[in-house]
Amino acid sequence: MEITEKVDLLGMDRAAMEAFFTQIGEKPFRASQVMKWIHQHGVSEFDEMTNLSKALRENLKAVAQVRTPKIVSEQHSDDGTIKWLLEVDNHNCIETVFIPEKSRGTLCISSQVGCALECRFCSTGQQGFNRNLENWEIIAQMWVANKALGCKPKEERKISNVVFMGMGEPLLNVTHVFPVARILMDDYAYGLSKRRVTISTAGVVPAIDKIKEEVDVSLAISLHAPNNPLRDILVPLNQKYPLEELMPALQRFVEGGHSKKHVTVEYVMLDKVNDLPEHADQLIELLGDLPCKINLIPFNPFPNTEYVRSSNNAIHRFQQKLTDAGLNCTVRKTRGEDIDAACGQLAGKVKDRTKRTVHRVDFKD
Ligand code: SF4
Repeated sequence: MEITEKVDLLGMDRAAMEAFFTQIGEKPFRASQVMKWIHQHGVSEFDEMTNLSKALRENLKAVAQVRTPKIVSEQHSDDGTIKWLLEVDNHNCIETVFIPEKSRGTLCISSQVGCALECRFCSTGQQGFNRNLENWEIIAQMWVANKALGCKPKEERKISNVVFMGMGEPLLNVTHVFPVARILMDDYAYGLSKRRVTISTAGVVPAIDKIKEEVDVSLAISLHAPNNPLRDILVPLNQKYPLEELMPALQRFVEGGHSKKHVTVEYVMLDKVNDLPEHADQLIELLGDLPCKINLIPFNPFPNTEYVRSSNNAIHRFQQKLTDAGLNCTVRKTRGEDIDAACGQLAGKVKDRTKRTVHRVDFKD
């Protein structure tokens, strides 16, 4: 088959890369060699891939490329958090955040330019939506961060965990997110275990069922409310996939398979909105015996938000109730607030195509 335009190698998982090399008349094992160069050595020029023959390098230059995004800015927080603004096309930029901790380093990556789901407490949701990110644009965030942090193969990993928790709803872009998850877990690329790659969703029920079949990574659910009327407001996607559909999907996710699974439950703490004792009681009942860990997230304000962060007392009281009921519940430490890199604060630069100011998104069929 003749290849008429240059293909992007950065976003190809191993199967796709092997198919590409077969297509150009090469042995499939070239895929692992090239993946190592790109992802482990951070190389984007074929001439630097020195264990490939000169003829193959010339051939690759003619038919393929390793396209990478432009780094618009790199901001450093006082607490060590780093935020990159990456230009993915002439109109749009996305944000990626690295959060270093004592025992791990987490990279929070974006899967869409903006987000159409309009969660009320989330800055990204207020920016509007432009488009899904492609494979190369998603994995490029890992590639850029690895290079910027000076990561070297065989050295201790600086990025030990990747979470799809940046801009966008990853389960509305599974065509591109699933292959990227496979690259993250590939030993010839980043070699992360499935426990260290987490997809965070607002609750796209049909796609939750696909995770186990296609990539088998970890799952976090942005729950944020313990009942339908409140969740319909805070996470409008709930109008399409209400709790009576979402909770069984989470149960199906943790059941079966070879390894013991749990779900991470994200719950933003909004003053007098979802942080009262009755909300804690409802949450305990809703979660029942679902194997889960609950992350309480103190709300991170952004311009023009109607919400206020819960008081420390309210957060502590809420946590205590859940813990007393036998649930595993932690309070997430706010990181990167001084550079607007905290959870729910990512805004990027989005040319909104949803025209939401004149037409609010309605999730009802
Ligand atoms: S919380 Fe996630 S799903 Fe909701 S608007 Fe923000 S980015 Fe989108």
